[in-house]
Amino acid sequence: MSKRDYYEVLGMEKNAGADDIKKAYRRLAKKYHPDVNPGDKQAEQKFKEINEAYEVLSDDTRRKQYDTFGHTAANGQGGFGGYGDFGGFGDIFETFFGGGFSGGRAARRPAKGNDIRADIELEFEEAAFGVTKEIKVRRQEKCTVCDGTGAKPGTSAKTCDKCGGTGQVRYRQNTALGRFETVRTCDRCHGEGTIVEQPCDGCGGTGRTLKTRTITIKVPAGVDNGSVVSLRGEGEPGERGGPSGDLYVYIRVRPHKVFRRENENVYCDIPISFAQAALGDEITVPTLDGKVKQTIPEGTQSGTVFRLRGKGIPRLNNRGRGDQYVKVVVEVPRKLSAEQKELLRKFDELGGGGTGGTGPGNKSIIDKVKDAFGV
Ligand SMILES: [Zn+2]
Ligand SMILES: [Zn+2]
Repeated sequence: MSKRDYYEVLGMEKNAGADDIKKAYRRLAKKYHPDVNPGDKQAEQKFKEINEAYEVLSDDTRRKQYDTFGHTAANGQGGFGGYGDFGGFGDIFETFFGGGFSGGRAARRPAKGNDIRADIELEFEEAAFGVTKEIKVRRQEKCTVCDGTGAKPGTSAKTCDKCGGTGQVRYRQNTALGRFETVRTCDRCHGEGTIVEQPCDGCGGTGRTLKTRTITIKVPAGVDNGSVVSLRGEGEPGERGGPSGDLYVYIRVRPHKVFRRENENVYCDIPISFAQAALGDEITVPTLDGKVKQTIPEGTQSGTVFRLRGKGIPRLNNRGRGDQYVKVVVEVPRKLSAEQKELLRKFDELGGGGTGGTGPGNKSIIDKVKDAFGV
C-alpha cells in the first residue's frame, strides 16, 4: 500500500502554517479518536495516519526533511533523517485530550515503544552511491512464548481485584477542610489493570525478551557524514497496543584517500610538474566514476581549479549530481641532477618565465626596488 501524502492526510496545503496544521490535527484526531469510534477499524487506521502525519509536520526539522525527501525510506516506510524525541500516543493524548478523555483508563492507554539508535560507517563511495547494509541491533521484542502478555501459556492475566481493572484507585480522605478524593495508580497492578499470576517462563512475566536482530538497511545515494536514516517500527515494541518505536541509523562516512566532499561537490588536488604546467599537457584525473582526461593549458598556474561537471555526489532523490573540482598543484622538484640544474640556470638567464629571473626580460626584485627609488 502506498503511503498518503502527510499534507493530504491533514487536508493542508504544503505551505500551511504550524497553527493551521495543529488545528487540522486536533479536529481530525477528535473525529477519528478510537474512544469516539469504538471497534471501528477504519477510524483507527485513520487516527494512526493522522497522528503519524502530525508527528512529522509539527516538527520543523522533520517537516523540512519530509518536504525534501518525501516518504523515502530506508525500508519504504519511514522518513529520511531527523531524530529526536517525538511524543507518541502518550503525549498526544495528554496534550489534547487532557487525560480525562479516556476516563478511568487513563493509566492504561497505549504507549509508543522506545526508539533505538544504531551507528554505521560507510566508505566514501558507499555514501555517494547508496548501499544496502546489514546491521545488528539489540532490542527488546515481544515475547513469542506468551505473545507479550507475560502470562504462562494456557493461563491468562487476571483482572486486578484492587482496582477492578481500571489501574487506578480512589482514596477518600476526611480532613478539617472537607472531604478530598484523590486518584492514584493502583499499587497492586502498577496501573496495568491486570495481574499475571503464573508468569511466562520465556520472559519472566515482562512480556518482552532481549533479541539481537540483523536488519537490512537501504542507504540512499547522497547521504553524508551525520545523516540519519530512520526505519519506522524497528524500535522496541509499544505497550498496550501502541506502535513500536523507530530505529535511527546514524551514518559516519570514512574519509577518502584522494577526495574530499562538501555537500554534493567533490574536491581533489592533483600534482603536476613545472614542465606540464608551463608547456601544457593532458593529465589523468581520478573521479568517482573512474579516470577521466583533463587538458592542462599552456601556462597553467599552481592552484588553478578545473571543474568536472556532474562528477560529484548524487543528490538525494535523484536530483542530479554535484561537480568535481580539481586543483592542480605545481610541484617544485626537490632533487635535480647537475645537468638539470645547468639547464634551469640557462632557462632562468633566458628570461625564466617568472618575475624572479635574472635575465633581461625579468628584473630582479632588487632591481625593481632600485628603479622605484631611483638609486
Ligand atoms: Zn513471555
Ligand atoms: Zn490494580
